[in-house]
Amino acid sequence: MDIPRIFNITESAHRIHNPLTPEKLATLGAALRLEKGTRLLDLGSGSGEMLCTWARDYGVIGTGIDMSRLFTEQAKLRAAELGLADQVKFIHGDAAGYVSDEKVGVAACLGATWIGGGVSGTIELLAQSLRPGGIILIGEPYWRQLPPTDDVAKGCLAHSISDFLLLPELIASFGRLGYDVVEMVLADQDGWDRYEAAQWLTMRRWLDANPGDELAKDIRDKLNSEPERHAAFTRKYLGWGVFALMRR
Ligand code: SAH
Repeated sequence: MDIPRIFNITESAHRIHNPLTPEKLATLGAALRLEKGTRLLDLGSGSGEMLCTWARDYGVIGTGIDMSRLFTEQAKLRAAELGLADQVKFIHGDAAGYVSDEKVGVAACLGATWIGGGVSGTIELLAQSLRPGGIILIGEPYWRQLPPTDDVAKGCLAHSISDFLLLPELIASFGRLGYDVVEMVLADQDGWDRYEAAQWLTMRRWLDANPGDELAKDIRDKLNSEPERHAAFTRKYLGWGVFALMRR
């Protein structure tokens, strides 16, 4: 079981697989006023940077589940490097339908809400692991400005304009699901550059090292087109944020 190999190549050097910078990730942890010993569940935990740094900085404990074998391995190495092996655990697996045995104070899914079939399904899934009064974290894109056409939305790697909402609409949608939005930290365009542009150097180095690989042509095509696509579309139209929710 694994995610498509191309992501394990293009994001192999990422610690954070979303447009939040390390500073913003720390800001989010501080904003949540986490108490030492707070239990956290992270579905689609990637390379584990949120759990590891919040365990180090705020004393949280918890579990991350991710379908990428490589990212999960990197998360385990990061935990070991920071001396956190007894605080955090990373499981390689499909997080769809995953409910924790012990209820958690924070249940998160950042940049992977397809795991629950979309935002509302993911909130429902996370809520099953949450203790009363706990916080759900959802990391999700939104439109900074509405794309004029579906082609522009496709340029942002969405299927159509209807994939995402404008920020006030996204916030309103959480209210309609019965949740207070109690905090948020939004990425900015520099953060998008860290997420997107960091893939370009990774791709170039990978191409130099793996010229005969069966994915070499795909990666070459991607490296040819990605910088311009990012500048023209994602950077201009797409926002991204983490929203902290509490049940009303
Ligand atoms: N939350 C992490 C990773 C976001 S990228 C971060 O913000 O850094 C999306 C992640 O979802 C990837 O790590 C990918 O491997 C993982 N993923 C995709 N489908 C999954 C599934 N069904 N179950 C668990 N993880 C999944």
